[in-house]
Amino acid sequence: MSLSGKTAIITGSNSGIGLGIARSLAEAGADVVLNSFTDSTEDHELAAGLGREFGVNARYIKADMSKQAECRALVEQAGACDILVNNAGIQHVAPIEDFPVEKWDAIIAINLSSAFHTTAAALPMMRKAGWGRVVNIASAHGLTASPYKAAYIAAKHGIVGLSKTTALETAEEPITCNAICPGYVLTPLVEAQIPDTMKKYDMGRDEVIRKVMLDRQPSKEFATVEQIGGTTVFLCSAAADQITGTTISIDGGWTAL
Ligand code: NAD
Repeated sequence: MSLSGKTAIITGSNSGIGLGIARSLAEAGADVVLNSFTDSTEDHELAAGLGREFGVNARYIKADMSKQAECRALVEQAGACDILVNNAGIQHVAPIEDFPVEKWDAIIAINLSSAFHTTAAALPMMRKAGWGRVVNIASAHGLTASPYKAAYIAAKHGIVGLSKTTALETAEEPITCNAICPGYVLTPLVEAQIPDTMKKYDMGRDEVIRKVMLDRQPSKEFATVEQIGGTTVFLCSAAADQITGTTISIDGGWTAL
Protein backbone atom coordinates (compact mmCIF):
# COMPACT_ATOMS: atom_id res chain seq x y z
CA MET A 1 0.00 0.00 0.00
CA SER A 2 1.11 3.57 -0.52
CA LEU A 3 0.77 6.38 1.96
CA SER A 4 2.31 8.74 -0.58
CA GLY A 5 1.00 12.28 -0.13
CA LYS A 6 0.14 11.73 3.54
CA THR A 7 1.99 13.49 6.36
CA ALA A 8 2.58 11.56 9.58
CA ILE A 9 3.60 13.12 12.89
CA ILE A 10 5.10 10.65 15.36
CA THR A 11 5.70 12.04 18.84
CA GLY A 12 8.80 10.80 20.70
CA SER A 13 10.35 9.32 17.61
CA ASN A 14 14.13 9.75 17.87
CA SER A 15 14.45 6.23 19.34
CA GLY A 16 12.69 2.95 20.08
CA ILE A 17 9.10 2.30 19.02
CA GLY A 18 8.48 5.82 17.69
CA LEU A 19 11.47 5.61 15.36
CA GLY A 20 10.37 2.12 14.27
CA ILE A 21 6.91 3.45 13.43
CA ALA A 22 8.39 6.41 11.56
CA ARG A 23 10.54 4.00 9.51
CA SER A 24 7.52 1.81 8.65
CA LEU A 25 5.38 4.81 7.66
CA ALA A 26 8.20 6.28 5.54
CA GLU A 27 8.73 2.88 3.91
CA ALA A 28 5.00 2.94 3.05
CA GLY A 29 5.54 6.32 1.36
CA ALA A 30 4.36 8.80 4.00
CA ASP A 31 6.18 12.05 4.67
CA VAL A 32 7.23 11.91 8.30
CA VAL A 33 7.78 14.39 11.12
CA LEU A 34 10.10 13.09 13.83
CA ASN A 35 9.92 14.63 17.29
CA SER A 36 11.60 14.69 20.68
CA PHE A 37 12.57 17.38 23.17
CA THR A 38 16.32 17.17 22.49
CA ASP A 39 16.86 19.06 19.18
CA SER A 40 20.34 17.59 18.63
CA THR A 41 22.30 17.38 15.38
CA GLU A 42 21.70 13.60 15.47
CA ASP A 43 17.92 14.19 15.60
CA HIS A 44 18.01 16.24 12.40
CA GLU A 45 20.41 13.77 10.76
CA LEU A 46 18.09 10.90 11.69
CA ALA A 47 15.23 12.59 9.83
CA ALA A 48 17.44 13.42 6.83
CA GLY A 49 18.59 9.79 6.72
CA LEU A 50 15.00 8.50 6.64
CA GLY A 51 14.21 10.93 3.85
CA ARG A 52 17.15 9.67 1.77
CA GLU A 53 16.48 5.99 2.52
CA PHE A 54 12.80 6.02 1.59
CA GLY A 55 12.59 8.97 -0.82
CA VAL A 56 10.09 10.88 1.33
CA ASN A 57 10.04 14.28 2.97
CA ALA A 58 11.30 13.71 6.53
CA ARG A 59 11.70 16.48 9.09
CA TYR A 60 12.54 16.76 12.76
CA ILE A 61 10.58 19.20 14.93
CA LYS A 62 11.56 19.82 18.54
CA ALA A 63 8.68 19.91 21.01
CA ASP A 64 8.55 18.96 24.69
CA MET A 65 5.49 16.75 25.11
CA SER A 66 5.27 17.66 28.80
CA LYS A 67 4.21 21.19 27.75
CA GLN A 68 0.75 21.67 26.29
CA ALA A 69 1.66 24.70 24.14
CA GLU A 70 4.55 22.78 22.54
CA CYS A 71 2.29 19.76 21.81
CA ARG A 72 -0.10 21.98 19.89
CA ALA A 73 2.75 23.93 18.26
CA LEU A 74 4.25 20.66 16.93
CA VAL A 75 1.13 20.00 14.89
CA GLU A 76 0.80 23.63 13.76
CA GLN A 77 4.46 23.76 12.73
CA ALA A 78 4.15 20.52 10.74
CA GLY A 79 1.51 22.31 8.65
CA ALA A 80 -0.31 19.06 7.81
CA CYS A 81 -1.27 16.02 9.83
CA ASP A 82 -3.01 13.11 8.11
CA ILE A 83 -1.59 10.51 10.50
CA LEU A 84 -0.94 11.29 14.15
CA VAL A 85 0.94 8.73 16.22
CA ASN A 86 1.00 9.60 19.93
CA ASN A 87 3.98 7.61 21.12
CA ALA A 88 6.12 9.74 23.48
CA GLY A 89 6.39 8.10 26.86
CA ILE A 90 8.47 7.75 30.00
CA GLN A 91 8.40 5.36 32.95
CA HIS A 92 9.09 5.49 36.69
CA VAL A 93 8.81 2.60 39.11
CA ALA A 94 8.04 3.11 42.84
CA PRO A 95 5.40 2.17 45.40
CA ILE A 96 2.50 4.65 45.50
CA GLU A 97 3.44 6.09 48.90
CA ASP A 98 7.00 6.82 47.71
CA PHE A 99 6.08 7.84 44.15
CA PRO A 100 7.62 11.30 43.55
CA VAL A 101 4.84 13.78 42.74
CA GLU A 102 6.93 15.38 39.98
CA LYS A 103 7.30 11.95 38.31
CA TRP A 104 3.54 11.39 38.53
CA ASP A 105 2.93 14.81 36.93
CA ALA A 106 5.53 14.25 34.19
CA ILE A 107 4.20 10.79 33.27
CA ILE A 108 0.59 11.96 33.12
CA ALA A 109 1.65 14.98 31.03
CA ILE A 110 3.90 13.12 28.55
CA ASN A 111 2.12 9.75 28.32
CA LEU A 112 -1.48 11.01 28.39
CA SER A 113 -2.15 14.77 28.24
CA SER A 114 0.17 15.29 25.25
CA ALA A 115 -2.11 13.02 23.17
CA PHE A 116 -5.12 15.14 24.11
CA HIS A 117 -3.33 18.33 22.98
CA THR A 118 -1.94 16.94 19.71
CA THR A 119 -5.27 15.31 18.84
CA ALA A 120 -7.13 18.58 19.51
CA ALA A 121 -4.73 20.37 17.16
CA ALA A 122 -4.75 17.63 14.49
CA LEU A 123 -8.49 16.87 14.12
CA PRO A 124 -9.34 20.16 12.35
CA MET A 125 -6.54 19.44 9.82
CA MET A 126 -7.81 15.88 9.27
CA ARG A 127 -11.36 17.16 8.79
CA LYS A 128 -10.15 19.71 6.25
CA ALA A 129 -8.18 17.02 4.39
CA GLY A 130 -11.17 14.64 4.53
CA TRP A 131 -9.16 11.73 5.97
CA GLY A 132 -7.24 10.99 9.12
CA ARG A 133 -5.75 8.37 11.38
CA VAL A 134 -4.90 8.72 15.07
CA VAL A 135 -2.84 5.85 16.47
CA ASN A 136 -2.15 6.00 20.20
CA ILE A 137 0.64 3.85 21.58
CA ALA A 138 -0.78 2.52 24.83
CA SER A 139 0.56 -0.71 26.38
CA ALA A 140 -0.50 -4.05 27.81
CA HIS A 141 -0.46 -1.81 30.88
CA GLY A 142 -3.38 0.08 29.31
CA LEU A 143 -5.46 -3.07 29.83
CA THR A 144 -3.92 -4.71 32.91
CA ALA A 145 -1.92 -3.48 35.91
CA SER A 146 1.34 -4.30 37.68
CA PRO A 147 2.53 -2.99 41.05
CA TYR A 148 4.83 0.06 41.36
CA LYS A 149 3.88 1.64 38.02
CA ALA A 150 0.91 3.72 39.23
CA ALA A 151 1.40 6.75 36.99
CA TYR A 152 2.28 4.75 33.87
CA ILE A 153 -0.71 2.44 34.28
CA ALA A 154 -3.10 5.30 35.01
CA ALA A 155 -1.81 7.15 31.92
CA LYS A 156 -2.00 4.09 29.66
CA HIS A 157 -5.54 3.20 30.80
CA GLY A 158 -6.33 6.88 30.20
CA ILE A 159 -5.03 6.85 26.65
CA VAL A 160 -7.17 3.80 25.85
CA GLY A 161 -10.19 5.83 27.06
CA LEU A 162 -9.09 8.88 25.08
CA SER A 163 -8.81 6.68 21.95
CA LYS A 164 -12.41 5.49 22.38
CA THR A 165 -13.72 9.03 22.82
CA THR A 166 -11.76 10.30 19.82
CA ALA A 167 -13.20 7.42 17.77
CA LEU A 168 -16.77 8.26 18.79
CA GLU A 169 -16.36 11.97 18.06
CA THR A 170 -15.09 11.15 14.54
CA ALA A 171 -17.21 8.04 13.89
CA GLU A 172 -19.22 9.50 11.00
CA GLU A 173 -16.13 10.90 9.29
CA PRO A 174 -13.29 9.18 7.37
CA ILE A 175 -11.14 9.46 10.49
CA THR A 176 -10.28 6.60 12.85
CA CYS A 177 -8.59 6.38 16.22
CA ASN A 178 -7.21 3.23 17.82
CA ALA A 179 -4.72 2.25 20.49
CA ILE A 180 -1.91 -0.25 20.01
CA CYS A 181 -1.07 -2.15 23.21
CA PRO A 182 2.43 -3.63 23.04
CA GLY A 183 3.79 -6.05 25.60
CA TYR A 184 7.53 -5.79 26.30
CA VAL A 185 9.60 -4.46 23.39
CA LEU A 186 13.39 -4.27 23.83
CA THR A 187 13.90 -0.51 23.43
CA PRO A 188 16.04 1.98 25.42
CA LEU A 189 13.07 2.46 27.84
CA VAL A 190 13.08 -1.25 28.70
CA GLU A 191 16.87 -1.67 28.48
CA ALA A 192 17.19 0.99 31.21
CA GLN A 193 15.08 -1.14 33.59
CA ILE A 194 17.32 -4.22 33.28
CA PRO A 195 20.26 -3.26 35.60
CA ASP A 196 17.97 -2.37 38.56
CA THR A 197 15.91 -5.50 38.05
CA MET A 198 19.10 -7.60 37.98
CA LYS A 199 20.12 -6.08 41.33
CA LYS A 200 16.65 -6.41 42.84
CA TYR A 201 16.32 -10.11 42.01
CA ASP A 202 20.03 -10.98 42.12
CA MET A 203 19.78 -12.48 38.64
CA GLY A 204 21.78 -12.28 35.43
CA ARG A 205 20.54 -10.41 32.35
CA ASP A 206 19.08 -13.44 30.51
CA GLU A 207 17.33 -14.68 33.64
CA VAL A 208 15.81 -11.22 34.29
CA ILE A 209 14.58 -11.03 30.70
CA ARG A 210 12.99 -14.50 30.72
CA LYS A 211 11.79 -14.88 34.32
CA VAL A 212 10.90 -11.30 35.27
CA MET A 213 10.25 -9.17 32.18
CA LEU A 214 8.73 -11.84 29.97
CA ASP A 215 7.13 -13.64 32.91
CA ARG A 216 3.67 -12.46 31.80
CA GLN A 217 4.42 -12.62 28.05
CA PRO A 218 3.53 -16.25 27.22
CA SER A 219 5.44 -16.26 23.91
CA LYS A 220 8.64 -15.55 25.94
CA GLU A 221 9.73 -13.24 23.14
CA PHE A 222 9.91 -9.46 22.99
CA ALA A 223 7.60 -7.76 20.51
CA THR A 224 9.55 -5.77 17.90
CA VAL A 225 9.39 -2.18 16.71
CA GLU A 226 8.85 -3.50 13.18
CA GLN A 227 5.70 -5.36 14.30
CA ILE A 228 4.35 -2.18 15.88
CA GLY A 229 5.29 -0.15 12.79
CA GLY A 230 3.60 -2.72 10.52
CA THR A 231 0.42 -2.61 12.62
CA THR A 232 0.40 1.19 12.41
CA VAL A 233 0.69 1.01 8.61
CA PHE A 234 -2.17 -1.52 8.57
CA LEU A 235 -4.33 0.86 10.65
CA CYS A 236 -3.65 3.51 7.97
CA SER A 237 -4.81 1.17 5.16
CA ALA A 238 -8.27 0.95 3.60
CA ALA A 239 -8.68 -2.49 5.21
CA ALA A 240 -8.85 -0.67 8.56
CA ASP A 241 -11.45 1.94 7.51
CA GLN A 242 -14.03 0.45 9.91
CA ILE A 243 -11.58 -0.31 12.72
CA THR A 244 -12.01 2.50 15.23
CA GLY A 245 -12.22 2.91 18.98
CA THR A 246 -10.50 -0.36 19.72
CA THR A 247 -7.22 -1.73 21.03
CA ILE A 248 -4.83 -4.04 19.20
CA SER A 249 -2.56 -6.05 21.48
CA ILE A 250 0.94 -7.02 20.32
CA ASP A 251 1.91 -8.80 23.50
CA GLY A 252 2.68 -12.47 22.83
CA GLY A 253 -0.50 -13.48 24.67
CA TRP A 254 0.00 -11.38 27.85
CA THR A 255 -3.59 -10.08 27.99
CA ALA A 256 -5.00 -13.53 27.15
CA LEU A 257 -3.81 -14.82 30.54
P1 NAD B 1 12.13 5.08 24.32
O1 NAD B 1 12.65 5.59 25.61
O2 NAD B 1 13.03 4.35 23.40
O3 NAD B 1 11.44 6.24 23.52
C1 NAD B 1 10.67 7.23 24.13
C2 NAD B 1 10.59 8.38 23.19
O4 NAD B 1 9.84 9.42 23.82
C3 NAD B 1 11.93 8.94 22.80
O5 NAD B 1 11.95 9.27 21.45
C4 NAD B 1 12.04 10.20 23.67
O6 NAD B 1 12.84 11.19 23.07
C5 NAD B 1 10.59 10.61 23.69
N1 NAD B 1 10.27 11.51 24.79
C6 NAD B 1 10.43 11.31 26.13
N2 NAD B 1 10.06 12.41 26.80
C7 NAD B 1 9.66 13.32 25.88
C8 NAD B 1 9.18 14.64 25.95
N3 NAD B 1 9.04 15.30 27.12
N4 NAD B 1 8.87 15.28 24.78
C9 NAD B 1 9.04 14.66 23.59
N5 NAD B 1 9.49 13.40 23.47
C10 NAD B 1 9.80 12.74 24.60
O7 NAD B 1 10.87 4.18 24.72
P2 NAD B 1 9.95 3.17 23.88
O8 NAD B 1 10.03 1.87 24.57
O9 NAD B 1 10.23 3.27 22.43
O10 NAD B 1 8.51 3.77 24.23
C11 NAD B 1 7.72 4.43 23.27
C12 NAD B 1 6.26 4.31 23.68
O11 NAD B 1 5.87 2.93 23.68
C13 NAD B 1 5.97 4.83 25.09
O12 NAD B 1 4.72 5.50 25.11
C14 NAD B 1 5.90 3.56 25.91
O13 NAD B 1 5.11 3.72 27.05
C15 NAD B 1 5.27 2.61 24.90
N6 NAD B 1 5.47 1.19 25.23
C16 NAD B 1 6.72 0.66 25.31
C17 NAD B 1 6.87 -0.69 25.59
C18 NAD B 1 8.20 -1.34 25.69
O14 NAD B 1 8.28 -2.49 26.16
N7 NAD B 1 9.28 -0.71 25.25
C19 NAD B 1 5.74 -1.47 25.82
C20 NAD B 1 4.48 -0.90 25.73
C21 NAD B 1 4.36 0.45 25.43
